[in-house]
Amino acid sequence: MLQMLAATTNKNKVREFQEILKDLKDKINIITTDAIPNFPEIVEDGTTFAENAMKKAKEASAFADMVAMADDSGLVVEALDGAPGIHSARYAGEGASDADRIAKLLKAMDGVTDRRAKFVCAAAIAYRGEEVKTFIGEIKGKITLAPSGSNGFGYDPVFIPDGFEKTFAELTDEEKNAVSHRGRAMSAVADFLRDEFSKMDDFEFV
Ligand code: IMP
Repeated sequence: MLQMLAATTNKNKVREFQEILKDLKDKINIITTDAIPNFPEIVEDGTTFAENAMKKAKEASAFADMVAMADDSGLVVEALDGAPGIHSARYAGEGASDADRIAKLLKAMDGVTDRRAKFVCAAAIAYRGEEVKTFIGEIKGKITLAPSGSNGFGYDPVFIPDGFEKTFAELTDEEKNAVSHRGRAMSAVADFLRDEFSKMDDFEFV
């Protein structure tokens, strides 16, 4: 069984990872950083989602000496020149809540008719401190005028994906994962891992 470190402490993300990779559950045991003593804080100082995901995956794999997967994600709003982008988690400052970030976003978009936005997720796999592969997933949609729904996390209550009439927070986990940026990036990860497993008896990247 491959022990794979998911380099995140975000329980929502871990739940989504596990759901998407569930057909590989006999082959991959996903461990989170809580299980690694003294796991260091990794500074996200990259300029793109991919750079940040890669950095987290590389440092996590080197520290824990196991295959690591990390993601970096966020909301990119057309009318705000791509903000909050890679700063999505800290858009309303340290210690702010999802509600604070949503309030700030809706305020910034007050009177803005172009509501186009997308969620982006970069998912990177690393081994022994080296990048193995990075995948990008995106979902386009629009920002609502007010929050709606209570599922999910983050900006879900104000994002309606293209092709839907409901926000991400009004969709079930399965509905969201089927189209979401993270769902798409993680499906690419899952395809890659399935392919690797099919090529070898024992999982080895090197
Ligand atoms: P990070 O990927 O942990 O750096 O954080 C990305 C931030 O973007 C999260 O804290 C959320 O605010 C936002 N975000 C990323 N993915 C989603 C999603 O699926 N739904 C809602 N918000 C998200």
